[in-house]
Order: sequence, then structure tokens, then C-alpha cells
Amino acid sequence: MSIAFVGLITTYANIRHLGWDMASKLPLEFRLSRLTVNSLRNLCDAHNVQRASNLLKEDLVRFVQVNFDKRTLEDFCTAQEDIYFVENMAKAIKWSASRKIVEINPKSDYTMVEGVFTLRRSDGYEVYNIRFVNETTDDVATSCECVDSRERGYFCSHQMAVLVRCLANGLFTLDQWTGPMTPEGEDLILANVFRKKRK
Ligand SMILES: [Zn+2]
Repeated sequence: MSIAFVGLITTYANIRHLGWDMASKLPLEFRLSRLTVNSLRNLCDAHNVQRASNLLKEDLVRFVQVNFDKRTLEDFCTAQEDIYFVENMAKAIKWSASRKIVEINPKSDYTMVEGVFTLRRSDGYEVYNIRFVNETTDDVATSCECVDSRERGYFCSHQMAVLVRCLANGLFTLDQWTGPMTPEGEDLILANVFRKKRK
């Protein structure tokens, strides 16, 4: 493979990543407010910005907006969101293999996926309904009942688990998926979901 060709693939992956990176369209304040207090404090520590350690979440979000430029905060959010994505994708891939955890309505297809995520906890069950609605060809509306999805606007691990099951079952391909994805998440899926099937 020529170097130019490899470069082209990298560029394409980056463009596609930008296209799929829905978080960058969200207001910066919202993106900051859904980060953990710890990660916001780490940002301050890493830049030697003092007086952040005693602040609570709301004040901390305001504090970093005053003390950092917008670009630094955006890059920080993007990095944290990428970590969120890949960590949750790793969990989701494991869950997706279990029929007890991930159930897909057999009537589901590329235009409409309905899934149920059920995980047994020490104190009961965690149950969420997940939906992917794809009425046009270029965008898919995704939802889950959990707090991470409803309140924080994340493409959560439950949705990821349903997505991975759809891909594993051949409901649609990774190339057809127009919802949230990152290059690292894609690599994890390709390495762990499809490689196993090859004999
Ligand atoms: Zn969820």
C-alpha cells in the first residue's frame, strides 16, 4: 500500500469522525457540565490553575470557562468524550454477546431498531428500552431511557450494546451506520466482533 493511499484513508477517517462527532454541535457549557468533577479538576491541575479544588460542579464549570480559552476546553471535552466512547464500547461489546442482556425486536431493520437492555444488579435489574430510527439515509435518531442518554446526551453503553448486536447479526454494516462512532470505537468493533467469526 502506498504512503499516499494510507494518508488518504487517514484523512477520510478524520473527516468521517468529524461528521459523526455530534457532541461538537452541543453547547460547550453543556459538554463541560456532563464531565465529572474529577476530570474538570484534573484539567486545572494539569495547567497549574489554582483554586479549583474546593469548587462544586456548577461553580467549577463556570470557573474553567473563565480560566481557559474556548479552544482548550473544546479539545478537552473532545478528548474526554473519546475516552467515554471507547471505554463504554469495550463494555458494550461484552454485553452484546449475551442474549440475556441484549434483546432485539425481531421486526427490527435498518430503518427502525428496537432493543431492550437488561442487566442484573445486586439490588435488582437495570432495564432500558433503546431505539434507533433511521428515516432518512444520512442521519439516525438514537435514544435510551438511561440518565447518560436522556440528561447528558451521550451515546451510552446500552445503545452501543444494541448497535454491536445489530452489526453482529448483519442488520446493517458499520459503513451504513450514520450514528455516533469514533475511529477507536470502530477499531474495537472490527477487532472483537468480526474477527471472532472468521475461521
Ligand atoms: Zn443508556
